Amino acid sequence: MAIALAEGRLVDPQRRVIDYLRISVTDRCNYRCTYCIPEDGRAPVARADVLSFEEIATLARAFVTLGVRRLRLTGGEPTVRRDLPALVRLLRALPGVEELALSTNGHLLAALAAPLRAAGVDRLNVSLDTLDAQKFRRITGRGELARVLAGLEAARDVGFASIKLNTVAVKGFNDGELGALCTFAWARGIVPRFIELMPMAAGQTFIPGELLAAAEIRAAVAAAHGGARVVADDGGAARGAGPARYHRLEGGQDVGAPRRFGIISPMTEHFCDSCNRLRLSATGALHACLAHDDAVDLRGPLRDGGPRAVVAAIAAAISRKRDGHEFQLVGLGGPRKAMVQIGG
Ligand code: SAM
Repeated sequence: MAIALAEGRLVDPQRRVIDYLRISVTDRCNYRCTYCIPEDGRAPVARADVLSFEEIATLARAFVTLGVRRLRLTGGEPTVRRDLPALVRLLRALPGVEELALSTNGHLLAALAAPLRAAGVDRLNVSLDTLDAQKFRRITGRGELARVLAGLEAARDVGFASIKLNTVAVKGFNDGELGALCTFAWARGIVPRFIELMPMAAGQTFIPGELLAAAEIRAAVAAAHGGARVVADDGGAARGAGPARYHRLEGGQDVGAPRRFGIISPMTEHFCDSCNRLRLSATGALHACLAHDDAVDLRGPLRDGGPRAVVAAIAAAISRKRDGHEFQLVGLGGPRKAMVQIGG
């Protein structure tokens, strides 16, 4: 078998240790971000095909038994799934889960921050692409900036171990705002991160000229903080299980807080060599790579097989985990699937 189960670890054919599972709890989203959801939209999946909380917890238990230590809930938008804190409690109760994180657009966070924290979410990522309310509405389709900012404040009040901002860097949209987003985050003890645009959904939402490369992002952050230079950083408490590389500003004008930021650069500075993760879709498809469409069904083995069938299916997915991906700067090489189906 291509994976080492005996050592209590999941190891893929490239000897990468897999200890991180991202769980999409719904394919639905209350936003319509232009780079995420193709214009023709996507028919929501039938409810009967979506895993119940108990099924998600059963699968999570199998993963944790095999060596996964860190879980992240994502979507779609995870907070639109009713009673999400109940799922958090089920996952938190699994022995061996060292970290439970959540990615959200923040729209429902003002009311949910406290219950999610109380249920056991440790780390929070909030997506925020602009601080301008009109631009925010434009890129999210239906988002309300004031709600997200209120959600962030509620999250700060309840003491998550880490809060990060996730900004997709889009040339011609927010490239002039990267410095301001950093200043906004740093003033609140939050670590900003920038994500390179990816050609998901068969490239339908990708405009090559809008890609802001990691090197350009670093230069823009430094330029916005006159005289500062970018140096490598370990990420401190912000370093989670994900692929971000961290940097900080040194020199220039001090803002009285550590000026740390992260970049997730699947397009120009790959991180496939250190990939440690798998993605479980809301319908139980296990994706070993964000950038490829192949997946292994876990729902069938779960509903009709049993624990051994589930482990065999997980092993099959890991034994076929790709070396890397083939995203191209012109927008080719991406998968047909959209981020909203499996979470980012
Ligand atoms: N709804 C949640 C949220 O907003 O964080 C979780 C799911 S969302 C798909 C996860 C992240 O993927 C968001 O930060 C989103 O901006 C990002 N994303 C979506 N489509 C993307 C794309 N084509 N390229 C890069 N990032 C993308």
